Amino acid sequence: TKVLLTGGSGFIAAHILELLLQRGHEVVTTVRSDDKASKIRDAHPNAKLAVVIVPDIAKSDAFDEVVKTPGLEVVLHTASPFHYNWTDPKTELLDPAIIGTTSILKAIKKSAPGVKRVVITSSFASILSEKGLADPKKVFSEPDWNPNTYEDGLKDNKATSYRVSKTIAEKSAWKFIEEEKPNFDLATVCPPLVFGPIVHHLNSLSAINTSNQRFVDLIQGKFKDEIPPTGVYFWVDVRDVALAHVEAFERPEAGGKRFFTTAGKFNNREVVAAVRKNFPELKDKLPSEGVKGGDYPEGGVYGYDNSRATKELGINWISIEKSSVDTVKSLQAVGA
Ligand code: NDP
Repeated sequence: TKVLLTGGSGFIAAHILELLLQRGHEVVTTVRSDDKASKIRDAHPNAKLAVVIVPDIAKSDAFDEVVKTPGLEVVLHTASPFHYNWTDPKTELLDPAIIGTTSILKAIKKSAPGVKRVVITSSFASILSEKGLADPKKVFSEPDWNPNTYEDGLKDNKATSYRVSKTIAEKSAWKFIEEEKPNFDLATVCPPLVFGPIVHHLNSLSAINTSNQRFVDLIQGKFKDEIPPTGVYFWVDVRDVALAHVEAFERPEAGGKRFFTTAGKFNNREVVAAVRKNFPELKDKLPSEGVKGGDYPEGGVYGYDNSRATKELGINWISIEKSSVDTVKSLQAVGA
């Protein structure tokens, strides 16, 4: 199958790309610069792979040309900002997330009649609510939607702005399907925090993707005196996220569905314990067992139902210990 994968330079997309090629699919992927394009080409010599430059996904015609690639049947849209290095939430975060999503859907409808399935990387950010995160009785799953509005995304809270960017992007995609009745259907993949080994090119550890930052901090000694709070207590391994994207287009019955792809709960203490157990040579950098912090809250923590993704995408979730070990190994390989 010929697949268009946006944002091929990203942490998650690089795993999707590997899996697509392993399964014999032909891939066209987009990146922002020539430099990133050549890194991907170099990593996959002789592959059925084309790398195309799309400099700015916030432009409403960004994808108009690339979707005209003959023979495309599937589009996987992963490109979207996930970092907090911005000052203006509209132009640097909401526009690329939302316009990036609507512009690719419009372009496919207009110029890619052979596309039958689009899979969008959404997020647990579009499922959660502040209220639910404070409620140990809440069970999160696909019917839940983040109630935040576009306007909330313009206020002075970076986490909220990111969550809104994902929520409005995903809502816009479902609305497009409903209103435009295009030639394709849609599946969305909603992961919480994604951990796991990096397979994309990294210039330096300071360029680590946002969700793996805590592992860099941990092995550089920043948890030594106190384990920081976990934040959101759901996680998933990047290899399972990649698998979910590929299964979500290979399985016809996945069309029209969102998938809450989580392996389950974790906390920072468990991550520290997994790394302590498996990397005795890092002892001096890690907190000793008596160091406090990183636990679940005393009153318990909200729950999840990942049964749709487990059953309908056939995922056998990777454990937090394996994910932690493989993440640290891959960081050591790039010089940590
Ligand atoms: P990365 O930062 O590694 O990847 C983001 C990708 O989007 C990169 O290819 C990046 O290109 C591209 N991108 C970002 N901003 C723009 C822009 N303005 N114009 C063009 N391209 C852009 O993060 P992840 O791999 O983690 O994120 C991939 C997707 O997964 C995103 O949609 C994110 O929201 C989603 N997600 C991630 C989670 C996580 O914990 N990692 C959890 C839930 C969802 P470049 O390399 O040039 O910067």
